[in-house]
Amino acid sequence: MKHILVIDDSATIRMSVEYALKEIGFPISQAENGRDALEKVNSIKSNGNDIAVCVVDVNMPEMDGITFVKEFRKGDKFTPVIMLTTESEDQKIKEGKDAGASGWLVKPFQPEQLVDVVKKLVR
Ligand SMILES: [Mg+2]
Repeated sequence: MKHILVIDDSATIRMSVEYALKEIGFPISQAENGRDALEKVNSIKSNGNDIAVCVVDVNMPEMDGITFVKEFRKGDKFTPVIMLTTESEDQKIKEGKDAGASGWLVKPFQPEQLVDVVKKLVR
């Protein structure tokens, strides 16, 4: 079974992203930062499941989104990763792409925009 992994240090954003993505029909897991997310990836995969898509914030304590993407890509070249950025983070978008992110959304975004991007990337 494929899981959607939502990674953001804001509980409010995690909840709104989870709510928006419910209609896609995959189980959804949440992580508070990149390090927590890498642990969730490992436990999901070691249970014989897989990741459908990661939706990841850039600025987080402990491990930021760019570092997460780099670490995640060491073990997974193809699973899509969508970064959530803010208006002022042009440089972060470039860094994210270089690290292996598949797409990004600029906050604040409409739930339908997120659903569209996820549907395009998830098969
Ligand atoms: Mg943040």
